[in-house]
Amino acid sequence: MTRSIRSINPAADGVFFVEGPASNWVVLVGDGRSALIDAGYPADLPLVEDSLRDVAGDVPLEAIVVTHGHSDHIGSANALVASHPGVRVFAGADELPNVRREVLHQVGVPDLVPQLLKPRFVSWAVHAVRAGGLGDVGVQQVEAVPASMTIAGHRIRAVTTPGHTPGHTLYELPDAHAVALGDSLVTGHAVSRREGLQTLHPMFHHDAVAAESAGATLARTYSGWTLMPGHGAIRKAGI
Ligand SMILES: [Zn+2]
Repeated sequence: MTRSIRSINPAADGVFFVEGPASNWVVLVGDGRSALIDAGYPADLPLVEDSLRDVAGDVPLEAIVVTHGHSDHIGSANALVASHPGVRVFAGADELPNVRREVLHQVGVPDLVPQLLKPRFVSWAVHAVRAGGLGDVGVQQVEAVPASMTIAGHRIRAVTTPGHTPGHTLYELPDAHAVALGDSLVTGHAVSRREGLQTLHPMFHHDAVAAESAGATLARTYSGWTLMPGHGAIRKAGI
């Protein structure tokens, strides 16, 4: 699997969807500041920094808002906090223990054993480990995200969508008619044979039944919106 950014795709004014090597993040730019939604794997740190420089120059990073506490979404948050003074980190209130790693709701080796004869799962696991997926990525200073707030000049609304993890949260950007879906709904994944809107393989979910039903509801709710998933390509409104 490649270790570079696959694409940076503008979703709206000041909203940039970054398709990373294996997971995605969103850069928001406005009012002389920048913000991130999700932050890739630990090994994605240079790519996250590159994407910030590319689209936001050297304006200060104001906030990192995370959809959930998995290593491929919060991986570079600690390093970013260290190198960008004053940056705040937010997650859904029910996700805080997972982001702090007081608990761990994440796929582990025992979940993988039944899949080990499938090449896609093996190469996904190799990439996940190489990208630092087993490292300690807990973010202690994470705060509960308010239901709505403005970061880097963009209004965002937090919507709790439990299933993938207990406190998984997606973020609507109502002015851009775009939504950062995290892993509640994706358009592709390394272990999936198909592209197009889908939920992740059940082994990745904390509660697979809840995740499936949330995914079906979200696909209806956001039909007509620009979809920015945690994995897979952006799906722009009207395309
Ligand atoms: Zn993910």
